[in-house]
Amino acid sequence: MSEVLISKTFGGFPWTPLYVEAIDASQCLGCGQCVELCVQHCLSLESFTDDEGKERFIAQIANKSQCIGCQACGRICARHAYIFKAKTA
Ligand code: SF4
Ligand code: SF4
Repeated sequence: MSEVLISKTFGGFPWTPLYVEAIDASQCLGCGQCVELCVQHCLSLESFTDDEGKERFIAQIANKSQCIGCQACGRICARHAYIFKAKTA
């Protein structure tokens, strides 16, 4: 059976990173707060045209390979659009 990756805090305590797995598009308002917050530049804001021809924005996972599993993006999202997942070895 595969084991969940466990890291350590500065003080040596166990820390289980939960990496960004998905963003629920039906919940995202396109505010961009998560994109600005991510220090690892994993996220981007993409534009699209809605059914009424208006330009809208939606958050995307652009660079998952840089994610450190901090979950800060999910904490700031008022819509609870983020889904996270531990990494297995
Ligand atoms: S913070 Fe939430 S609502 Fe705002 S762009 Fe990010 S995912 Fe979308
Ligand atoms: S979990 Fe942290 S590093 Fe990963 S995308 Fe969210 S804010 Fe960025």
